[in-house]
Amino acid sequence: MNIVVLVKQVPDTETKIKIKADGSGIETDGIKWVMNPYDEYAVEEALKIKEAGKADEVTILSMGPDRAIEAIRTGLAMGADKAIHVKVDSLDGMDALTTAQALAKGLDGVEYGLIVCGKQAMDDDQSAVPAMLCELLGIPQVTVVSKVEVGEGTVTVNRDIEGGAKMVIEAPLPALVAATKGLNEPRYASLPGIMKAKRKPVDVKNFADLGVEPVSKTEIIGWSLPDERAAGKVINTGDREQNVKELVRLLREEAKVI
Ligand SMILES: Cc1cc2nc3c(=O)[nH]c(=O)nc-3n(C[C@H](O)[C@H](O)[C@H](O)COP(=O)(O)OP(=O)(O)OC[C@H]3O[C@@H](n4cnc5c(N)ncnc54)[C@H](O)[C@@H]3O)c2cc1C
Repeated sequence: MNIVVLVKQVPDTETKIKIKADGSGIETDGIKWVMNPYDEYAVEEALKIKEAGKADEVTILSMGPDRAIEAIRTGLAMGADKAIHVKVDSLDGMDALTTAQALAKGLDGVEYGLIVCGKQAMDDDQSAVPAMLCELLGIPQVTVVSKVEVGEGTVTVNRDIEGGAKMVIEAPLPALVAATKGLNEPRYASLPGIMKAKRKPVDVKNFADLGVEPVSKTEIIGWSLPDERAAGKVINTGDREQNVKELVRLLREEAKVI
């Protein structure tokens, strides 16, 4: 069985995001790009399933511009066997549906028994691509999974739900499962892994050749950052007892939290 892992390259969560002066998007200069953290769990899980003898191959599938190859190589360095890069000049003007359509086309002619992905991409947080992709492929999906067991023609997963309870779901293969934190502990790529990754095959499919019309059903009409936080207040009356009284007064009268 081949396991396909969806990998998206996103800005590092440490990146300080800046909005373009005209408000049309984010400044991409100076951004450090990484594999979406939830996709690291997806790659790790696929590798563990293969190591347990329940899959023969792990294929990374990513849609993105040239730079997405870095996230793809990270997956290959962790241990995936090969990759498909659906290449786009830019993600601008492409919403989740266009992304899902392109990923579905990218899988044309590819045999797979399981698709593993992250539950959400850390940049746009839509959690929309997996469901749309499954609809297009006609396969079941289970999201927010914290345990995966591949059986004979089925996959059984745990979903964490309200109040610490777990829901156990079984789906026939092929299916898609979307990983959440706690599914596993993603491995670091080893130095030999990084060297080997450079020679692993990456099938490049140009978005323009896939026959997908980028007809976004949604449009981003504005971007804004949260309001700057007001500066903190230092209470220093010179008297400890007065400091406490002043703090209590501020919490009661200004912050209105007590
Ligand atoms: C710089 C920038 C500009 C953008 N401009 C626009 C715009 O102009 N108009 C617009 O509508 N949208 C725009 N987007 C949004 C972009 O198209 C979304 O990132 C896309 O629709 C996927 O949604 P998501 O990131 O929320 O993925 P989610 O649905 O949250 O992703 C869940 C999982 O799906 C998989 N996945 C998602 N995307 C990919 C991918 N590309 N390749 C492989 N696997 C993937 C991953 O496993 C991921 O963990 C922009 C995004 C960026 C970063």
